[in-house]
Parts: sequence; structure tokens; C-alpha cells
Amino acid sequence: MREGFIREEFSKDLYKPDQWQWQEGDLTVTRSCQWSGPGCHQGCSVLFYTKNNELVKIEGDPNSPVNEGRLCMRCLNMVEMVNHPDRIHTPLRRVGERGNNQWEEISWDEAYDEIVAKTKEITEKYGAKSISTGMGTGRNASWQTPALAFAGFKTPNDNAGMLSGDSCYTPRMMAMNALFGSTCIADMGQCLEKRFDDPRYSIPDMMLIWGNNPIVSNADGFFGHWVIDVMRRGTKIIVVDPRLTWLASKAEVWVQIRPGTDGAVALAMLHVMIEEGLYDAEFVDKWTYGFDALKERVADWTPERAAEIAWCEADVITKAARTFGAAGVNGTTTLQWGLKLDQQKYGVPAAHAIACMQIITGNIDVPGGFICINFGYTQSDIREAIAKDMMSEIKDGRLGDDYGALRRVGYAPHSSTDATLVAMETGEPYPIKMLYLCSTNPITNMGAESKRIYEAMKSIEFCVVCDLFITPTAAAFADIFLPVAMGCERSGVRGWYTPLRAINKVTDAGGKGDEVLMLELGKRLNPDYFPWDTVEEFDNYCMENLSSVPLKMTFEELRDKVIAYPDFEYRKYEKGLLRADGKPGFQTATGRIELYCTMYDMAGVDPLPYFDEPTESPMRTPELMEEYPFVLSTGARSWEFFHSEQRQSKAMREFHPDPIVELNTEDAAALGIKEGDWVNIENPHGKIRQKARVVPTIKKGVVHCEHGWWFPELAGEEPTLFGNWESNANCLTTMCDFGPSGYGAPYNTQICRVYK
Ligand code: SF4
Repeated sequence: MREGFIREEFSKDLYKPDQWQWQEGDLTVTRSCQWSGPGCHQGCSVLFYTKNNELVKIEGDPNSPVNEGRLCMRCLNMVEMVNHPDRIHTPLRRVGERGNNQWEEISWDEAYDEIVAKTKEITEKYGAKSISTGMGTGRNASWQTPALAFAGFKTPNDNAGMLSGDSCYTPRMMAMNALFGSTCIADMGQCLEKRFDDPRYSIPDMMLIWGNNPIVSNADGFFGHWVIDVMRRGTKIIVVDPRLTWLASKAEVWVQIRPGTDGAVALAMLHVMIEEGLYDAEFVDKWTYGFDALKERVADWTPERAAEIAWCEADVITKAARTFGAAGVNGTTTLQWGLKLDQQKYGVPAAHAIACMQIITGNIDVPGGFICINFGYTQSDIREAIAKDMMSEIKDGRLGDDYGALRRVGYAPHSSTDATLVAMETGEPYPIKMLYLCSTNPITNMGAESKRIYEAMKSIEFCVVCDLFITPTAAAFADIFLPVAMGCERSGVRGWYTPLRAINKVTDAGGKGDEVLMLELGKRLNPDYFPWDTVEEFDNYCMENLSSVPLKMTFEELRDKVIAYPDFEYRKYEKGLLRADGKPGFQTATGRIELYCTMYDMAGVDPLPYFDEPTESPMRTPELMEEYPFVLSTGARSWEFFHSEQRQSKAMREFHPDPIVELNTEDAAALGIKEGDWVNIENPHGKIRQKARVVPTIKKGVVHCEHGWWFPELAGEEPTLFGNWESNANCLTTMCDFGPSGYGAPYNTQICRVYK
């Protein structure tokens, strides 16, 4: 058992660190990881306690190097969610009109057969491309559902749950892949089994946390408490955020910016670092491309210029740049950035600018630095392995491959959601007539401009929703509802970065895992591509085809170990471990990290980082600001909810009963708004109401609305759809306003007015 994380309730005599399952009295204890809902997509290591195959308790696994026994309240509350009375346990067919929330139970075979019959009918009538799948963020479904789309439905259209501009991690991934040729993450020792005890590891001296509150969000395969782990060992932090988060309160420098001005602030920080020689000239000379062009680009980006744009003080920008630059020159810096960069129209160039700051410190792929992960995204391995040659047959004409410069040159992990919306609205370039939605609730969450998506979805002839509960999207549109298994009710492989983890099934409430849905439907639709008879056979296929993870073991072996670490090496670029040709350097056209990005140049995107104002903003549309004087940010995470999940949980609603809009104390006083008042938030796109939280910690002139709100306690049928339109922040956001690259959307940079 790992030292320092032993809870009282764990008896050293009973706990079996070397076994995946054991008995404690009348309880069976199973080690696993939690990846599918409810919870989040971090995949923390858990101990499931079951009695007569029913889940009675869940604890963090103290032996896991990943989360070392720690769990959020969402996972600790799993027993309530698994046994929740509103859960659906059998497939449902809609009865009567859409939207009346009336259902009849049907068998799994009936459900599968009906979906297959409708698929054939719609394919014959409109072509297979008129089918689109959609999935929720970062879960198991994000590899099984696209595989089913390509090889089962034979459509290239798998959209990211109607998320505009693919604005969740993809803009940062695009920037990293274009600049580095691989994905990079902050090194918290997570690639090493012994973590901080591995002699190869050392902590970063300085961590730049930008647009991210990782201890609440735990996003993108990054467990937020790792930041606290390194802070306890001496790491200092700089935070850039419009809100005073807990981490910002502990920072050496906190830069409080206007949402959406990140690019301007990063350019000014680069200006200071370069002007003052706070960079690693040797690394820049040897391993990067385009430094002189970058220097010229930032020459007139003074802190004063950025401060005026970002509504902050020039001195603070300068101090942040000097603190970060000096730490990089004298030690190790790393970067932990977040969704708020993706959720702005110019998120890709903002990420480009921020990445350049880390790059010129030279702390790339070194212990405690920004490490290159060339064995991440194992989901893609599997979906591509399953679809095999099918992709070349079906890929032409995928929706939105012309939506933005990077998409036009093939940088497109999914079909475009914005193009999917337009196709539903106009039938151009061809109609979308069937949706198969897995763990996504697009008229509440993910999809921006909820009412527009709702209206567009009325043109869908057949809609399947696979989820844990009846959601507003299911109530409004599902013709067939398939109940999905929760994390403890399915087996599988959790592949996202490292380590590789087993998901072990301990109970069964009737729902099916994504693997089962894919296999059952895939076999009926296109049996040649789905030859596995059982999930176990398929899991073993996954283990053999996780080509970018150099681990040779069967699923049974992984299950026994629960967590497995592939080898990891630092300074891979020096050893020829990053390039396909085995030469030293990075997998880019120049073999260097491209500060001046040749790929952007080729695609017709500005090859250097730049800043531009959001479509609606104090600087671009001052006339609109007279009517809507606040900058509106949406989507910060809460402890209790993962996006639109958990609203039916008694425990979570006890902690967090209402949707919260946060506004600054001075702004609230001027508007006569007091803590706890229900207020309207309105902009040119819609109006909602949330409860006011009045705080001095959010920037003056900025309000933040919580996202994902619906009310399972209200009527599910039309027109209320569980109160979907009352407090839903996506009634205030817009679709089809993505950046020139094709990525990034303004979830974080709208405008609004607020009144009682
Ligand atoms: S980060 Fe929290 S909710 Fe997510 S898997 Fe870990 S404990 Fe569960």
C-alpha cells in the first residue's frame, strides 16, 4: 500500500494490493477504474464493494499510482446513481408523438432489429452518409461509437455530440500536433509507475496554469490533485484566469484577464521573455524553427497593449512573464492549460502563443517539463483497426471537411458538428436523417445554441439515444432508447495516455456497455467487420491493436494487474524516438518544433501566433455592449456535476440545488442584485435564469453561467422537456462561429445583460 494515503477504513490485513478481486467478510472487493458515466473521463482507480452482486460501496484504490486512493464526490456517490429509481433498465420504444415522453419496453433483440431495419431503409432512401453518430466527451463511447459509424452504419459522419468547433481539447491538440508533431502534457510523473519515487523524475519549479481549474475539472487525462502533489513538494504556480480559483489564490502571480483575450496576454508575455533574454537560446537554436519570425511578431505586443485589451495591469503581465521566463532559464517549467482556450473562436492561435512560451524555455520532454506523449489516444488505434479499409471507401464527402483551413488539409478527427447542424437545417450538401447518440445530450449540453439544434433535429426521421437516464434530448427526439451500463457494470480497456487500465464489471442492472452495443449492432449491419463473439474476445483484440502502446499482454493479464505502464523515456527527440524515420528531432516538416508553423502556412492559416477579438466583444462590437454590458463565460466545472450528469442525484442537489450565475460584488450592487436572487441572463441569442452568487473574486464586467442544467424533477414532455430551456447556458451561445482553422467556438466569450 502506498505510504501516506491509507485511510482508516482500510485494514492492511484485508487489503490485497496484488489481487484484482478478493473477499472481505461478506463483501467482494474488485479493483477497477471508473471511466464510463457517471463520474467523468479521468478513469480513477477504484475499489468496488459488492454484496450478492450489488454495489454497496466504492472507495479510491490506495495502491493506485494514478489517484492514490483519492476520489471526487461524484465517484464516492456512485451507489446512489447505480441504484437510482429513474434509471432505465430495458430498451424503450417511443409511444405516440415525439416529445410526449411516453415509452414501451421492448426486448434487446427487438431494439437491435428495429435499428438495423431503419438503418437499411434510410440508407436506401438517402444514402449511408445521411446517418450521423454523436458521442459525449472522452468516454468509452468515443472509440466504440465512431467504429460503429464507420464499419457498421458505413457513414464517415461521427460528430462530437454537436460541440461547435470541436471546442474541447481538439484546438489545443491541433496546435500541439502542428507545432510538435505529438501531444504534450505537464509531467506530474504520471508516466512512471513509481511516480515521485522514480529517480528519473523531478518536479517542475514553475507551473503555468492557464484557463484551467484542474482540481475541479480533472480533464483530459489529467488528475487535478497532481498539481497539489507537486506544490507540496515545492513547485510554484502562475495562474491566468478571470476568476480567483483556489489555485489562483496560491499563485506567485495571478493574471486576471477578460475571457477570450488569452492570445493577447500570451503574445505580451512572449514579448517580455524575448526582449529580456528569458529563454533557452541553445535549445531554441538547435531544436526550434522560426524564432526570428516569432520575435518579430511579438515585437509590438507590449504588456501595455495587452493589458488594455485584457482589462488587467501591464505590471502583472510583465511579472508573470519574468517569473515564468526566469524559472525556465534557471530550472524547469511546465504548462497545464484548459478548455477555456478551446472555447473561444481564436483558441488555436491562443494555444499556439502559450505553447511558444513553454517551448522557448527549452523544457520539452524533460523531467517535470512538457512531455511528448507518443502513445496517447489509443481510442484512435481501435476505431481505425476496426474500420480498416472501410474508411477509404466511405470518407469522401464527410460533413465539414471544408469547414476551416485545417479541416481542408485533413486535420479532422470527427465530422464537423457545425456542418451537421447545417445539413439538418438545409439538406445541404446532403440531408442528415438518422442520429445515433451515445452518452450525449446535445440540446442541453455540448451543442451550443440549444434551440437552433432542437429545431434542426426535428428534421431527423429516426433517432436512437443511448444513455443512463431519459434526458431532455431523449425525451424530445428518441425513437428508441437504449439503456447504457454504468462504469461498474461493464468490462473493457481504458486507453487515454498512460497507464493502460482495466475496467472490471461487478454488477449488472440491465444496461449494455459500448462494446456490447457496437458488437450487437455491428454484427447485424456488417458482420465481416465485427467478428468477435464476446466482449472478452473484443477486449483481447483491443490489447493486440493498441499499436501505439508497447504493452504485450492479454486482457485477462491486464485485468489481474488492473493498471499497466508502458516504458517511458525522456528526451525522446534526442534519441530518434519521435520521428517515423527514427532520426532525432520532432515529427514535423522541419524536424524541429515549429514556432513558425509550416503546416499552418501550407493550410492557409497564419503560421505565427496572433490575437483577434471574439465576434461579439467590448472591442469589436462596442455598440452591442451598450445593451449587453457584460462578457459572458460559461462552462466552468463544479464538484457535483459532470456536464449535464447527476442532476437527478439527491446527494449532489443537496450540495448544489440550483444553477449559479457568478457576478462581481460591485456589478451586483450597481444592478441591485443580492446573493441568492434569481436573475435573468439575456443576450441577442436567448434568455435564461440562474441564481446569483455575488463574489469579489470574478473580474468586474464578467459573469459566469453554469452549463448543463436541466431539472429531472420537472415534467419530461414537451414543451418543458425537464425544464430544459429555463437555465440552460447554451441558450446563450452560438453555433457556426468557429475559428479560421475550423476549431474553437465562443462558449467562453459571449456578451449579456443581467437583471432581476
Ligand atoms: S476525477 Fe473524480 S469523478 Fe472523475 S473518475 Fe476520478 S474520482 Fe471519479
